[in-house]
Amino acid sequence: MKYVLYSRGAKHNVGVLKGNSVYPVPNIPDLLTLLRESSSSALAESALRDKAKILPLDKVRLLAPIQRPPKIICLGLNFADHAEETRQPLPKAPILFSKPPTAVIGPGDAIVLPKNSQVDYEVELAVIIGKGGRHIPENRALDHVGGYTVFNDISARNYQFRDRQWFRGKAFDTFAPMGPCLVLADQIPDPHNLRLQLRLNNITLQDSTTANMIFTIPEIISDISTVLTLETGDVIATGTPSGVGFVRKPQPIFLKPKDIVEAEIEGIGILRNPVSG
Ligand code: MG
Repeated sequence: MKYVLYSRGAKHNVGVLKGNSVYPVPNIPDLLTLLRESSSSALAESALRDKAKILPLDKVRLLAPIQRPPKIICLGLNFADHAEETRQPLPKAPILFSKPPTAVIGPGDAIVLPKNSQVDYEVELAVIIGKGGRHIPENRALDHVGGYTVFNDISARNYQFRDRQWFRGKAFDTFAPMGPCLVLADQIPDPHNLRLQLRLNNITLQDSTTANMIFTIPEIISDISTVLTLETGDVIATGTPSGVGFVRKPQPIFLKPKDIVEAEIEGIGILRNPVSG
């Protein structure tokens, strides 16, 4: 099942997305609440029965599925081809960094370029934690996944390289586009076999598969949970494949005002964001 958080006017609602229709789910204020419910599939089924309330997708505004995740934890260099293109050795353990929840934007929201910046895109599969925990063994890790969404790890390379660590360059407001929907974990039987692509103004710049991840989702969840307590709604961005802008030849590619960035993952959807200066 695909769930969306959407607004019509000032009101936010949870809905089930099916084709080009949104079926409102009553009495659930947001997707964090839904992830805490054990009966999310039953809620969806009852929403789908209520045909009188169907909304056309183009009449609502989709929002980031989780607007203020408790944590956003990202993997660096988790695809061998990306490590290679950036001339860095393959990591021996997952490389973790974080983005602040204030960086989150939803589908259609503008990525705002900071002044004097060189801003890049990175399509990534995001895992959304359903059931929290600490010291989660690998063989139980997938039980803690609530669902998946598309994530774009927007990165100001000049800040990232100037600081010699990644936080500032990846933390600007609007640098964590997420969406367009939350796909429940049981709808994606193998998250390590999904095509992921990034298009900039309709030109494909990244095209790979999650089969190429170095550390798998169970390894990542287990590793992170040795450090900290994972909570419902935490977002884990699992790393990007090759094709990022700053290593492109003969010229690097950076985002510019009026660009349209589309990150797409098979089975989830397309996360489309304009860029503004
Ligand atoms: Mg990344």
